[in-house]
Amino acid sequence: MAKKIEIAGAGLAGLVAGITLARRGCEVRVHEARRYIGGDLSYADSTIMDVAALEAELGLDLEEALEPWTLTRAWSYGRKYEFGLPRGVEGFTVERGKGEHSLENVLYRQAVAEGVEVLLGSRLSKQEIKELPPGSIIATGLDREAFEAMDLPCRPFFCHMATGRGDPSRPSVIIYLDGFTREFGYYFQRGEAAGALVFSVQRPMTDGEKEEFKAKLAAGDGIVFDTWSDRIASWAAWPLGSWSNLRLLQGEKILAGTLAGLISPVLLFGVNGALVSGKIAALAVDDRDAALREFKRLTPLYWPQFAFRKCREYLPHAVLKPLTRVILSTYDPDSFPYAMLFALYPPGCKFSVR
Ligand SMILES: Cc1cc2nc3c(=O)[nH]c(=O)nc-3n(C[C@H](O)[C@H](O)[C@H](O)COP(=O)(O)OP(=O)(O)OC[C@H]3O[C@@H](n4cnc5c(N)ncnc54)[C@H](O)[C@@H]3O)c2cc1C
Repeated sequence: MAKKIEIAGAGLAGLVAGITLARRGCEVRVHEARRYIGGDLSYADSTIMDVAALEAELGLDLEEALEPWTLTRAWSYGRKYEFGLPRGVEGFTVERGKGEHSLENVLYRQAVAEGVEVLLGSRLSKQEIKELPPGSIIATGLDREAFEAMDLPCRPFFCHMATGRGDPSRPSVIIYLDGFTREFGYYFQRGEAAGALVFSVQRPMTDGEKEEFKAKLAAGDGIVFDTWSDRIASWAAWPLGSWSNLRLLQGEKILAGTLAGLISPVLLFGVNGALVSGKIAALAVDDRDAALREFKRLTPLYWPQFAFRKCREYLPHAVLKPLTRVILSTYDPDSFPYAMLFALYPPGCKFSVR
């Protein structure tokens, strides 16, 4: 008889886990809180991605949701840095949200084709999450209740964001590491659609910080948005929360995506991490030890990321400013340390368990 598996959350990690398990002959049911696939926001994630390796390893078609970067720029404390990626490394903006070509909708269609049952409008309460059978996969993204139900450390974050029309002649991705944010800000552009957002941890941004971000966007690249929103405030196993945020297993349940600690878009966790962890969560259904080994092997950048984030959170700007400048001005895509960083990039590693 086919094994029955319950998954909470039809986001990136939950859908990849569902597809993988359905292909292995399991009967898969995914509970999705919303009545549609994709969040309330339509925006684009930015990431480097080894599309061919990821598609081959996951057995998925992702390209419909992807658009290559044209140019990347960083602004830090008033200085501009233009970026190239090392040879052979490609960057993409990834459509997210309700749109037909968003990554979650691209995965949803593949999940349905594989026979995965997706229950829309099926929000699981804390108690229902706790009561899911052993071996269930929890992939509920930023939802605080799931963290609490699973007794996982998490922390709040706040985001100030605008979306609107962009100018295709601008860089596709602009990163802001500056005095007005303890995390980072960025601007993205996909065709004529564009957006800017700045993350803040622990407390909402002050009005002064918001104005500074807007002023930097306008002064640096002539980017002006009329309507800004503070709507995105949520909870995450943000890598700053605790050394032990990175975890695949919690009691009898299996974690995937954000809940497993794989959220940040800096240093390559985020979309890549969510997709890869969906596959590893599926592997854990049959072989927990092998999946755990794989999870550890494919997350070598967690500790450097943790250290980087802690520095940005606690170092005074008097120290951060010269430090950030040294890092950005010595960036050379072909130098050994940076090449090593990209070589550690998880989806480039082959899965050792199938
Ligand atoms: C504003 C923002 C900008 C980002 N930018 C980038 C970027 O530039 N690059 C990058 O790589 N990453 C970025 N990320 C991170 C990336 O989006 C996440 O890592 C990725 O979406 C995580 O996937 P997931 O499967 O864990 O969660 P999601 O894809 O969010 O899916 C979770 C799903 O679970 C559902 N759900 C929640 N609670 C319940 C419940 N109780 N019952 C049933 N269903 C439930 C939700 O409705 C949702 O559909 C960004 C994230 C945010 C918030």
